[in-house]
Amino acid sequence: MKVLKFGGTSVGSAQRMKEVAKLITGSRNIIVLSAMSGTTNSLVEISEYLYKKNPDGANEIINQLAQKYDRHIDELYSTEEYKQKAREYVKSHFDYIRSFTKDLFTLFEEKIILAQGELISTGMMNFYLNEIGVKSVLIPALDYMRTDKNAEPDPVYIKEKLFKLLAEHDDAELFITQGYICRNAYGEIDNLQRGGSDYSASLIGAAIGAEEIQIWTDIDGMHNNDPRFVEGTTPVRHLHFEEAAELAYFGAKILHPTCILPAKLNNIPVRLLNTMQPDAPGTLISNQTEKGKIKAVAAKDNITAIKIKSGRMLLATGFLRKVFEIFENYQTPIDMVTTSEVGVSVTIDNRKHLDEIVDDLKKYGTVSVDHDMVIICVVGDLEWDNIGFESRIVEAMHDVPVRMISYGGSNYNVSLLVKAEDKRKALRELSDHLFNNKK
Ligand code: ASP
Ligand code: MG
Repeated sequence: MKVLKFGGTSVGSAQRMKEVAKLITGSRNIIVLSAMSGTTNSLVEISEYLYKKNPDGANEIINQLAQKYDRHIDELYSTEEYKQKAREYVKSHFDYIRSFTKDLFTLFEEKIILAQGELISTGMMNFYLNEIGVKSVLIPALDYMRTDKNAEPDPVYIKEKLFKLLAEHDDAELFITQGYICRNAYGEIDNLQRGGSDYSASLIGAAIGAEEIQIWTDIDGMHNNDPRFVEGTTPVRHLHFEEAAELAYFGAKILHPTCILPAKLNNIPVRLLNTMQPDAPGTLISNQTEKGKIKAVAAKDNITAIKIKSGRMLLATGFLRKVFEIFENYQTPIDMVTTSEVGVSVTIDNRKHLDEIVDDLKKYGTVSVDHDMVIICVVGDLEWDNIGFESRIVEAMHDVPVRMISYGGSNYNVSLLVKAEDKRKALRELSDHLFNNKK
């Protein structure tokens, strides 16, 4: 059994849904779908209006969205019977959304509204498959996908429930299910955070011990650099789980970072594939390393660097703990860290509590902040006893001011912090030095 996940753009129109249907027929695979593209954003917008007690604003978006779905339905189904079924199904979901425009609106109601996008897309796809004669069965994620009291997925529960549900449908040719949505430990509707469908696919793959998890998007696998900034990038054919995790975390948009761990722990290969070019090999992520090979470069924007410098013996016992505790108190994760005898620099990407953090840090030394920075991350087999990769990376930066360099946290990553305005140059120079043999 395989798990195939299709994101919002892959199911973003009736035409795209038909294309997806061609890719998924047969062999009892589990198909995980996102909401049609733009839908979750609209649902977020609806919720924002409802928080602000503006039901008219909410209704306007709801009506626009409902009209869009009417058009999708007309285009997707060829028989009146299925058009009717789909209209009723979609209408029931919109009626449900509308029911929240009247009462008190809290996080609880918002989560229910956000869940409707995936419920609608999967219902529509299942009807379509049935219409064209495929024996597909809808498996409701809300019946098996669950988080525990720490808001972490509960693998034991997921596995048990999922097996039961699959066993109830001996004759199913394939299964359709929702990405992203789940229930929390109290049985309430919840989700795995924005972009969480990849995570759903990975959790499902781990639960059933899938042969492979496929993440279908509209790009030909993970590229060795960001094609929006660098010409001539090429797809990377193989990545180690750790390399993929670094890339996903540090900016490669193709795969959600949380998706890697369940697959890695269960040693299930993840393949990134392209719905527009279904025969292209894509990128295979597995436990295999390619000795000494640098694979890719990615960038993470909107980074703030904070330096704490002290006249006194700075790295005395407990100093780092005190500094890190301040970030923890404000629930602000740190991305990069570099240290010296007199100071420590860290980066964050969540500036919400920056002012308070800086105020608190001032107790321990002089604090300076650099805004609009970018983390550039180089990923590959960078085992410390491989020689030469550090000098090639640094050589690529010969013309770029570098604020921080970090290596040694893992064998798969070197991170550099540069100004946002130098991002393009840094990415290009790295491609030229590491992949194109131009320098
Ligand atoms: N529909 C959700 C989102 O837009 C989940 C996903 O697509 O992965 O964030
Ligand atoms: Mg996505």
